[in-house]
Amino acid sequence: MRYISTRGEAPALGFEDVLLTGLAPDGGLYVPETLPHFSLEEIRSWRGLPYTELAFNIMYPFVEEAIPEADFRQMLDETYSVFAHKAVAPLVQLDTNEWVMELFRGPTLAFKDFALQLLGRLLDYVLEKRGQHAVILGATSGDTGSAAIEGCRQCEHVDIFILHPYERVSEVQRRQMTTVQGDNIHNIAVRGNFDDCQRMVKESFSDQSFLEGKARLAAVNSINWARIMAQIVYYFHASLALGGPDRSMAFSVPTGNFGDIFAGYLAQKMGLPVSQLVIATNRNDILHRFMSGNKYEQHTLEHTLSPSMDIMVSSNFERLLFDLHGRDGQAVKELLENAAKGPVSIADYRWKRARKLFDSAAVDDAMTCATIREVYQQNEYLLDPHTAIGVRAARTCRRDEQIPMITLGTAHPAKFPDAIAESGLAVKPDLPAHMAELFERKERYTVLDNDRDGVQSFIAKHWKNA
Ligand SMILES: *Cc1c(COP(=O)(O)O)cnc(C)c1O
Repeated sequence: MRYISTRGEAPALGFEDVLLTGLAPDGGLYVPETLPHFSLEEIRSWRGLPYTELAFNIMYPFVEEAIPEADFRQMLDETYSVFAHKAVAPLVQLDTNEWVMELFRGPTLAFKDFALQLLGRLLDYVLEKRGQHAVILGATSGDTGSAAIEGCRQCEHVDIFILHPYERVSEVQRRQMTTVQGDNIHNIAVRGNFDDCQRMVKESFSDQSFLEGKARLAAVNSINWARIMAQIVYYFHASLALGGPDRSMAFSVPTGNFGDIFAGYLAQKMGLPVSQLVIATNRNDILHRFMSGNKYEQHTLEHTLSPSMDIMVSSNFERLLFDLHGRDGQAVKELLENAAKGPVSIADYRWKRARKLFDSAAVDDAMTCATIREVYQQNEYLLDPHTAIGVRAARTCRRDEQIPMITLGTAHPAKFPDAIAESGLAVKPDLPAHMAELFERKERYTVLDNDRDGVQSFIAKHWKNA
């Protein structure tokens, strides 16, 4: 399978190169040139399969040129055996035909483990084969950093450096990053804010001379195709558990960067009957404003109780725009260049095509807390603030009561105790048993000044072969 850029100018790549690259050189994102398509009969035959076998059937067409079957099976077994639930992505019923799919049973208690546990193993495999070493560099305000570190802890050919703003991430989030032991894991607390960290990462990618050509930087943010690929699987998994593909499903997805929900869109294109996808955002609602009014316009960043969805632009949305424009890279390029300058719209018939599948809702902090309370009172079930936004949006946008509505549960409530407290409930979410000793584990991180050159020389000095 070949991968092409959404801006139409970069050369097509194979899976290995797509895995090791971030943005395409033309500024676009990579997407598969063609998608595999599964018949209803084939999908039906997967009923009752363990998660890893289903994952193999769905993902193998994307990687087959790079990885032999047996190796990929083994990688998937290792990836999903670290999850603390045998079903990997269990479903919890909230009401008649209403469900939450718990995607937070992985090592860092958020759905990002589904992709990053696999990504670490894929990178190590490909680098071993090529005799190369990679330096991963990323900035985090919370979830991505810990999931990426956990995903790379067993890698032999990867060093990972994660920058976080010193004293500005929650204690649970910091400890999830800094208590992971390994010579290849480097946590840097920068005396600055998240934007400072992100700027340093960006500048380091555009000028990598500080590594003196001895290693290359790799990205693990949600524009990496392999992350999207791994997320397609659980849409099939939920559907098969609830009577699919012989009935169609609706999904509600808490989203910021449009990564998780784009995977649901691909599941539908690959043959899974999906009748509705609900985009659930917080007050950073650029996606909701587009879906409800065909206007794509950047606003200022708002800090909310659901920090993992606090974004201004939605990077993966470009992948949907590419399809909506008949895969015309030039048109996407023009649209996004204009979007950087001011509000843009797309042709009405293209927008209406998107609206056939997508609905959206924006949920503010007060409504998020009200939903956490409501579901706890109805079910004695505690939602994290991101999942609560998904449930609220699902209940607002539902089109057909006969169709199962599945909200993606993106994080465990113990990760976001502040939101639970703010909701006024007198319950305190406990960390799961396997993480109970998080507060006793030894932490390891380096505090550095808010200075790019200092951070870069730290990296140059501390990666394995330096
Ligand atoms: C990252 C994250 C999201 C948003 O994911 P997208 O890739 O933007 O769709 C939602 N909830 C939680 C808990 C997250 O960590």
